[in-house]
Amino acid sequence: MDTVPALDTIRGWQEELYRHLHQHPELSHQEHDTAATVAERLRSFGYDVHEGVGGTGVVGVLQNGDGPSVLLRADMDALPVREDTGLGYASTETTTDDEGTETPVMHACGHDVHVACLLGAASLMADSRERWTGRLVAVFQPAEERGDGARLMVEDGLAGLVGTVDVALAQHVLPFAAGTIATRPGPILSAADSMRITVHGRGAHGSAPQAAIDPVVLAAMIVVRLQTVVSREVAPTQPAVLTVGSIHAGTKSNVIGDHAVLELNLRTYDDAVRQQVLDAIHRIVVAECQASGSPRPPEFETFDRFPATTNDEDTTATVRAAFEEAFGEQVTDLDLQAASEDFSDLPNALGVPYTYWGVGGIDPETYAAAEAAGRVSQDIPTNHSPFFAPVVQPTLDTGTSTLVVAALAWLGTDARPSGARPTGAQPTDTPATDASATDVPATDVRT
Ligand code: ZN
Ligand code: ZN
Repeated sequence: MDTVPALDTIRGWQEELYRHLHQHPELSHQEHDTAATVAERLRSFGYDVHEGVGGTGVVGVLQNGDGPSVLLRADMDALPVREDTGLGYASTETTTDDEGTETPVMHACGHDVHVACLLGAASLMADSRERWTGRLVAVFQPAEERGDGARLMVEDGLAGLVGTVDVALAQHVLPFAAGTIATRPGPILSAADSMRITVHGRGAHGSAPQAAIDPVVLAAMIVVRLQTVVSREVAPTQPAVLTVGSIHAGTKSNVIGDHAVLELNLRTYDDAVRQQVLDAIHRIVVAECQASGSPRPPEFETFDRFPATTNDEDTTATVRAAFEEAFGEQVTDLDLQAASEDFSDLPNALGVPYTYWGVGGIDPETYAAAEAAGRVSQDIPTNHSPFFAPVVQPTLDTGTSTLVVAALAWLGTDARPSGARPTGAQPTDTPATDASATDVPATDVRT
């Protein structure tokens, strides 16, 4: 994408900023320096900036006449991972986590890419105000990895800061070839729920079961019975995973304890299925406690909750058409992802449609070689790996252009006959890419 003149104007500072962010990652809810950098840059571009939204969140608003309002979102947090990429700008930082433990920290999920790309797009949009009208809202959210950053921004009055929004858009750098962009209508990321369940028995000597209500047997019955929820209650066409990942009870072989604690994790792609499984878990646990003669009701505690991400069909079709117009054969289909995200908490709270896409971050030659050898899963590091480090280019150029192209699909005024650019061509005038892609019928863009 060396032919994109507008990208040339930002590439210098953007790459430098990206390496700086990568070298100085911050854990969830601790994104203070990142947020300050974001706020300062947005102000320099001419945005109205709100800081400290939901903790360390930053919102930049650029009003440019009348028109639609587009929300673009990037997440800012890093992970407690010791970087092992060997890069010259690798993180060597450690920090103190919420439990007070010293821990290494790394941008192992690529959120530094997201921040650099959204700042780049915000700059390009500010510099090309003659080509669009409306309102651009740039949301930099904390704590995606904890699943509560978006919700905290909502609870802190995000809606009042951004006004009416027509559409919300977000992207994630993923372990496929850099320069490639992947979209998917409908379900894309799972909802995740973690739950801690405490069930109560009555303790006694191991030789006197008649005096006890054994929480180990009770917990075991619950674990077995929970296996029937997905296999016997959920339709086979609906993906769902229910895992009891932890079970703790008792202290000694000849002592019957008085309680057991189970921790489970649930993944679903559909709100109705999610609620169905949660209801089933509750029903089974309560009933098994009754069956055992448990002296007290069980206790349920949910944590690390992520909403499902389900891309709006029309919004995805609009973005896909704009991408195909701008990037041609670089655009492909994204598989259903088992991971989870909290981005959708923003559009769900604002009551607006959304779409979420992937951009590749792996050196294209490295990826092609791994693919040819049938060794993608062995040779290509995934997000959250200590070896995950997107190549700087074309990752940043692509991830910046996608945001601009997608935003202009709603905001752009520089209408141009669709199909003017040959299929497969690189974008030549980002951010001047026009809104004509929205002219392409939605039925033409999903194959
Ligand atoms: Zn992550
Ligand atoms: Zn991530």
